Amino acid sequence: MLPDDVRRLAEGLIADHLPGGGWTFAFDRAVRRAGACHHADRRITVSRHLAERAEEDEVRQVLLHEVAHALAGHRAGHGPRWRAACARVGHSGGRLHERPIAEDRARWVGTCPAGHEHRRFRRPERALSCGVCSRRFDRGALITWRRADPV
Ligand SMILES: [Zn+2]
Ligand SMILES: [Zn+2]
Repeated sequence: MLPDDVRRLAEGLIADHLPGGGWTFAFDRAVRRAGACHHADRRITVSRHLAERAEEDEVRQVLLHEVAHALAGHRAGHGPRWRAACARVGHSGGRLHERPIAEDRARWVGTCPAGHEHRRFRRPERALSCGVCSRRFDRGALITWRRADPV
């Protein structure tokens, strides 16, 4: 989805389900989770990485998961209060979306001669050397790429 569309979707859901609560939306840079609910700041965030790659349905479910956290309160965790809030807002997916989305979809795994692992969404077109082994391009630290196992 385009960032503007994600923002519109998020602000619409906040207006529908959290009216007058002072909640706002922002992007974050997480790669290990799809979204987050920051109770102290009254802010719901979605990973930019997720937003770029996901369809509207998926982004909507991530947002609803966080909206349900906002409704249920910080202490509810993923317990009964949160599940009741999920039912109210129409969140279907349980905790499915807490998997590390960006890494799940990183389809290429590269390994340098020293064994450092690197992940990319696409196979790099140019030869890359390992940034852990050497800060500059180094023929001795070339990364070899293979397709990641499906998850
Ligand atoms: Zn959660
Ligand atoms: Zn290395």
